[in-house]
Amino acid sequence: MAAYEYETHEYDVVVVGAGGAGLRATLGMAEQGLRTACVTKVFPTRSHTVAAQGGIAASLSNMGPDHWQWHMYDTVKGSDWLGDTDAMEYLAREAPKAVYELEHYGVPFSRTEEGKIYQRPFGGHTTEFGEGPAVQRTCAAADRTGHAILHTLYGQSLKNNAEFYIEYFAIDLIMSDDGQCQGVVCWKLDDGTMHVFNAKMVVLATGGYGRAYFSATSAHTCTGDGGGMVARAGLALQDMEFVQFHPTGIYGSGCLITEGARGEGGYLTNSEGERFMERYAPQYKDLAPRDYVSRSMTMEIREGRGHGDGGDHIHLNLSHLPSEALAERLPGISESARVFAGVDVTREPIPVLPTVHYNMGGIPTNYWGEVLNPTADNPTGVVPGLMAVGEAGCASVHGANRLGSNSLIDLVVFGRAAAIRAGKVVDAEASNPVLNQTSVDAAFDRFDAVRNASGSVPTADLRLEMQKTMQEDAAVFRTAKTMAEGVEKMTAIAAKMDDIKVSDRSLVWNSDLMETLELSNLMPSALATIVGAEARKESRGAHAHEDFSERDDENWRVHTVSRVEGNKVDLSYRPVIVDPLSTEAEGGISLKKIAPKARTF
Ligand SMILES: Cc1cc2nc3c(=O)[nH]c(=O)nc-3n(C[C@H](O)[C@H](O)[C@H](O)COP(=O)(O)OP(=O)(O)OC[C@H]3O[C@@H](n4cnc5c(N)ncnc54)[C@H](O)[C@@H]3O)c2cc1C
Repeated sequence: MAAYEYETHEYDVVVVGAGGAGLRATLGMAEQGLRTACVTKVFPTRSHTVAAQGGIAASLSNMGPDHWQWHMYDTVKGSDWLGDTDAMEYLAREAPKAVYELEHYGVPFSRTEEGKIYQRPFGGHTTEFGEGPAVQRTCAAADRTGHAILHTLYGQSLKNNAEFYIEYFAIDLIMSDDGQCQGVVCWKLDDGTMHVFNAKMVVLATGGYGRAYFSATSAHTCTGDGGGMVARAGLALQDMEFVQFHPTGIYGSGCLITEGARGEGGYLTNSEGERFMERYAPQYKDLAPRDYVSRSMTMEIREGRGHGDGGDHIHLNLSHLPSEALAERLPGISESARVFAGVDVTREPIPVLPTVHYNMGGIPTNYWGEVLNPTADNPTGVVPGLMAVGEAGCASVHGANRLGSNSLIDLVVFGRAAAIRAGKVVDAEASNPVLNQTSVDAAFDRFDAVRNASGSVPTADLRLEMQKTMQEDAAVFRTAKTMAEGVEKMTAIAAKMDDIKVSDRSLVWNSDLMETLELSNLMPSALATIVGAEARKESRGAHAHEDFSERDDENWRVHTVSRVEGNKVDLSYRPVIVDPLSTEAEGGISLKKIAPKARTF
């Protein structure tokens, strides 16, 4: 057994992650007087949420008629009928409240002439249950919405006496023998000390795993650490095959150009100068949802109408927009285009390509953020003491495809919901759990094994191999052949974790060790993604299977549940929750409105 000295900390709640989801949960917990710690591997305002540009969806009706039911309908349709209906109702209904709260906490939203929160159009957001024109539903602080939200929530959390453990890396969950989460083991990156957090509730808010792919818009820190911890605890991941490609990553660097650029009137063209989205989505054109636009772009490139010498990218045109509008509404992306593509957006188009952007799948939860441990007898049983929110979780509101600006609202609605629920289930007066020492020791043993790993494969090499395989074989379009090859390759790649080589043995600022721990978290997520994709014999949302090009509701309107052990993935399925929270008689949406139908735009 590895001998590490450690300090123990006791809290009512420990939140792992200080992005939008983690901070909203932390703030909500602390406001209720729960003793709350927030553990984060990067400084809170460096979390990936800071990069969110376009905005946050809520039916405020500031720019024209809107209704939460229309938002719910768009989310159901956007999810390609894979989202859980109760959670999608909760999201759409609570969204305005959550945004007004942000406003009152101090988020500096852009304003309309009358001083209301400014809202812009975003893909897939419509009126009249998809029958009316596009709606302006996405609330924005210029093109720095995530930045504004993160800074505000961090300040508010400090004001409410939440305690922050910054640059602490969470290694593994502490689980009791009967399956209750009791806390988390952490490594402090800057001085090498070890820490055990004992908590009545652990909230995983560790973000997505975009870095399983070669080209992604997400930060290098988006390594699915929460999913890795959950997989090692023998718990499930859900719907991992649904990976969103954003239509407009800058060609070459992958840096994101927000969908807000098309919301403000930008459009895509092929090498013939044609606005091709008019052909694929006659009604909503460039503002069709992301899976749709990414596939259309890929078709154009495949059919020889891409730009550039290799015919391998598409143009995003903004130069027809007034330069004042660009300066006021899209200053950040004008700068990104200059720095990463050498383009002056007032004169030239930006070269773009679909780029991995968001993970619809994650740790399964109910709409209170409680983690599920789905079994055949009890598909919605919860894991006591454990919650997951934000991109790490899967509530599931995004189903097979997320609508733009529905993630930021997911972070704050479910971060808030988790706090409301914790206020009910966490007893501040009760004593903390007696920690299961076997579980604590196991975490240190694993840490020590990785630290002293003396195999033959350097971490960076294995990571690159994984990223390239995922990029090629779990792409925008997928075939039975590419996915079968992908499963085989990824199984072999994951097995090489046993032969990994860490060169630096120190405990202080050891980035080699940290990146290896991160790779050990990316690997189960990547495996579950490709294995889940290979198994799903239909096309739905972001999963475009060329050999099964239709959606198959009879057989496949189910959530994929994957349990990963080593390089093996065990798949099972749980039913999608089809009932909303409220009936039509109670003021809810009519079931007829949200019944599955063909998804066209
Ligand atoms: C470039 C970009 C632009 C986007 N724009 C929009 C937009 O306009 N609108 C929208 O709705 N969505 C947008 N999205 C999506 C959205 O921003 C993300 O889904 C969301 O910010 C994720 O937030 P999060 O709180 O779940 O995680 P993150 O913000 O990624 O934060 C994760 C946190 O977990 C911590 N953490 C992770 N692992 C560990 C560990 N092992 N130990 C300790 N701490 C750990 C990190 O330190 C960090 O604090 C965008 C995404 C990107 C990449």
